[in-house]
Amino acid sequence: MYTPIIGMEIHVELKTKSKMFCGCPADHFGKKPNTQTCPVCLGLPGALPVPNKKAVEWTIMLGLALGSKIANVSKFDRKHYFYPDLPKGYQISQYDQPIATNGKLGEVRIRRVHLEEDTGKLQHKRNNTLVDFNRSGVPLVEIVTEPDIHSAEQAKIFLKKLHQIIRYLDISDADMEKGSMRLEPNISLNTGDFPKYKVEVKNINSFRFVGKAIDFEIKRHEQILEKGETPKQETRGWNEAKNETVSQRSKEEAMDYRYFPEPDIPPMRFSPSQISNIQSTIPELPDAKKVRFKKEYGIPDQDIEILLEEKADMFEELVKQGAKDHITPKEIANYMINKKSDHILADIKEAKNTMEISDEDIEQILAEHSKAVEDYKNGKQPALMFLLGQIKRKQPKADSQKILESLRKKL
Ligand code: ZN
Ligand code: MN
Repeated sequence: MYTPIIGMEIHVELKTKSKMFCGCPADHFGKKPNTQTCPVCLGLPGALPVPNKKAVEWTIMLGLALGSKIANVSKFDRKHYFYPDLPKGYQISQYDQPIATNGKLGEVRIRRVHLEEDTGKLQHKRNNTLVDFNRSGVPLVEIVTEPDIHSAEQAKIFLKKLHQIIRYLDISDADMEKGSMRLEPNISLNTGDFPKYKVEVKNINSFRFVGKAIDFEIKRHEQILEKGETPKQETRGWNEAKNETVSQRSKEEAMDYRYFPEPDIPPMRFSPSQISNIQSTIPELPDAKKVRFKKEYGIPDQDIEILLEEKADMFEELVKQGAKDHITPKEIANYMINKKSDHILADIKEAKNTMEISDEDIEQILAEHSKAVEDYKNGKQPALMFLLGQIKRKQPKADSQKILESLRKKL
């Protein structure tokens, strides 16, 4: 039996107004290629990067939300590699002094949270490759976990939690279809000794595919280990169409990034008061909200989970408004979960009205059908059913048992 040892690297594009080191708009999705560029994000000689303050603050915020320690001093480094999506020949990233370290989310330790810049986008068309630099220089947060994950299921739970926190902090769309949150699991199997290899699967864009890629890798490694061999240390990609991972580059070709401190950006210092100011802007996070909802509203756990996805604020607003009409949090939660509507309170009120029948209504029916009342008093039981039928015609959703009770009382 082997134990899967899985770590995660997650890249998240921040939704700041401008890019990481220049004034170009950071919102690049769907824009005409190469219309949001300048000498800085095109890597032209002599252009000087100026860090985006908001991006730094948001990275600190995420670090704090993940229970990390924020560095007193943090700096940027150059990470070199040659690829056409990287105009400078290096990426400005962080190496040995990331903004945040030693966090934890659930059972998974967070090794580091650092800030870097996104690359341009390559488009392969027949025999040509086109480059769009609109994405070049967009602020990108990288979150790296310790290898504390042991199954595809656990990985998905962790990632969904992280995704939810990022959305609550409102620092990124974290839209995986648009590539603003990209997932990279690294996987090895423990055979008793600590594994001597690691396989990384790059750039996955859905929780489901991460799960599939992990399961695929676990099986593949098992088969290799069964033969007495060791899986190759390599980087692989997820092939959505074939439902499998494919080899991209092996350890022999692994890169030496030649990291060195970015000479154009001085180190950043964060004072305790700066950090506590940022801490105070963190909204109530999902876990805390969950505990409070349970206590305040007494709704079932699975309902809370669904509300926490995105409807938590709306739910609380409706609870406040609904209280006037004696609509309970439970009724609102039920309704919100089962039906989408802009008129939730009105709908619940109407539904409640149609289910209830007032004393006046019953008395009116009795007055209209005095013959049946007479018959019933003379011992003719079916007359009671006739009266019930008349009332149900008026309020089809009313509870028959309750109507019978009040009829017997009145007669
Ligand atoms: Zn620019
Ligand atoms: Mn990175």
